[in-house]
Amino acid sequence: MSNLDDQVGAELEQWGADGLYRTLRTVDSAQGARIVLDGREFLNFSSNDYLGLANDPVLKRAAAAALEKFGVGAGASRLVCGNLRPYEELERKLAAFKGREAALVFGSGYAANVGTIAALVGAGDVVILDKLDHASIIDGTRLSGAALRVYPHRNLKKLEDILRQSGSARRKLIVTETVFSMDGDLAPLAEIVELKEKHGAWLMIDEAHATGLYAKNRRGLAEAAGVEDRIDVTLGTLSKALGSAGGFVVGSQTLIDGLRNRARSLIYSTALPPAIVAAAAAAVDLVMSDEGQQRRDRLWRNVSQMKNGLAALGVANQSRSPIVPIVIGDERATVEASKKLSERGIFVPAIRFPTVPKGKARLRVTVTAGHTSDDIRGFLSAIGVILSEAKNLSH
Ligand code: PMP
Repeated sequence: MSNLDDQVGAELEQWGADGLYRTLRTVDSAQGARIVLDGREFLNFSSNDYLGLANDPVLKRAAAAALEKFGVGAGASRLVCGNLRPYEELERKLAAFKGREAALVFGSGYAANVGTIAALVGAGDVVILDKLDHASIIDGTRLSGAALRVYPHRNLKKLEDILRQSGSARRKLIVTETVFSMDGDLAPLAEIVELKEKHGAWLMIDEAHATGLYAKNRRGLAEAAGVEDRIDVTLGTLSKALGSAGGFVVGSQTLIDGLRNRARSLIYSTALPPAIVAAAAAAVDLVMSDEGQQRRDRLWRNVSQMKNGLAALGVANQSRSPIVPIVIGDERATVEASKKLSERGIFVPAIRFPTVPKGKARLRVTVTAGHTSDDIRGFLSAIGVILSEAKNLSH
């Protein structure tokens, strides 16, 4: 064993003892309400494919046509020779969909957050984050060299305290998710907009889990809160409700020109494959169509059924989204609950530190438009048994 193996191995052993060890499981099917995992069919409550588009024939046909015409790989960064025609079409559609001047597509939502934050701020600036912001927001802030300040989850008073204390900073940037990815609750967006204007800060919102799902035009939570044109930077992903892959930013033409010139995760990374980009463009059309509306209606009906069913089992929940977590707390108990669901043919991952704080481990249940009412009933009856067994054990 090398010295590296010794040291990393010892760390892994500790992670195992703490219930934090991670493995990969192999999926042998397309995404959907049912997936084939390690050779067995499971009812799937783990995916962010909220509208069930990842395996949709319309998206697949769009991808196949682009594949045929443009081939597999983009060949280089978008600024070299990778800016294939489907990108232009997608960015035009995204800007129109989100009602903003311009859009810029990145290789992933992660790359969009990291590249955007690090392009906009640097040493002498301050970035102010909600405690539960996604890792890519934290990583972008760290990379930027700006000071990182954190307010407790959704705590406006603490946010304002930090804004007051940051008076001498050159730029102040607040970044918040609108739908929080592991809790499913919502940012108090209208109030944050008031504070950012009062204190002369910029506001960037991450609508990864809201795009395509909320408000009349399905743009997300900023539309629902009526504050879209007061937001400086809006980020979304193509990888969740839009069923494809990639991330994007929308805003003013100046913002987008700035990012095209400065965002290193865009400049120094090969462009997404054209088939993926074409599928995302088809997804934007689909989300805006009547079919998109029907899927969204089905999704929210399913979410209600899940939330009401969990409430009847005594599981408290702040969720206002298709992300409905069951917080168990202890890491090993959460892994055990996930395993018991698995034995009953249901897949829900155990989400643990460092994705969520220590002692806040949870089953992250996600509901999609692809689930049937029977699927949700099946899940509720399985989790009801598992939770009551766990309760009996702890008494
Ligand atoms: N932001 C948030 C809030 C997310 O939950 C995620 C993905 N889990 C990302 C950004 C990153 O998006 P992607 O998976 O497209 O890299």
